[in-house]
Amino acid sequence: MPEGDTVWLTARRLDQALSGRELTKTDFRVPQLAEVDLTGQPVEQTVSRGKHLLTRLPELTVHTHLKMEGSWHIYRLSSPWRSPAFQARVVLANDTWQAVGFRLGAVDVVERSAEHTLVGHLGPDLLGPDWSLDRAVQRLTADPERPVGEALLDQRNLAGIGNLYKAEVCFLLGVSPFTPVGRVDVLPQLVDKARRLLLLNKDRADQTTTGNLRQGQRLWVYARRGQPCRRCGTAIRALESGVERMERVTYWCPTCQPET
Ligand SMILES: [Zn+2]
Repeated sequence: MPEGDTVWLTARRLDQALSGRELTKTDFRVPQLAEVDLTGQPVEQTVSRGKHLLTRLPELTVHTHLKMEGSWHIYRLSSPWRSPAFQARVVLANDTWQAVGFRLGAVDVVERSAEHTLVGHLGPDLLGPDWSLDRAVQRLTADPERPVGEALLDQRNLAGIGNLYKAEVCFLLGVSPFTPVGRVDVLPQLVDKARRLLLLNKDRADQTTTGNLRQGQRLWVYARRGQPCRRCGTAIRALESGVERMERVTYWCPTCQPET
């Protein structure tokens, strides 16, 4: 699942390829937008808000969300695509580049003045200009009984943390993801750590929380079910919940992150 830093990097790549140029071809391959044609319109910018992408034209915004499996690829006009064409949901092209959104979880075209209907519910963005640690902590603790792991994933509290960073920051602060958020005494540190990790990783494709970039060494607990904890050797545990199973797997070390 893409995290806030992946989305930030995607926004930057889209921005570099599309901004300041006129669209020469657009193709929306989702039924409700099949008639939309933005040819001739200049692109002003692409920004990320949490895990949402906003590509802004003078009056309209193309909103996309990567959800679980989506990605944007940037190709030279003549280059072949690296994913199957049937998975493409949007093509935005100018005279040099084509940006192709594959398997996107959401695609909308809205008036720019209506962007808030898509992203207005988000809490402070860990990588955004509106970032506020105090406000994020305030929102997180509004429901003090909620397990901290779950509260961190709720984009209405703060925007940008996905399952990977949830697991990793809880490990790094020695907090069980099942602890009620109101009882986590290191909550500001936890949130601050998440932001630092996102900032550290936002310019690269492979995320690391251990500081090690080698394959298989990058993460402490995420996706390491049954493997020994890098600190204490205890087998990493994993618990699935919710309907979107993959999205809701919680990883933790029961020794380093005792339930309190
Ligand atoms: Zn451990």
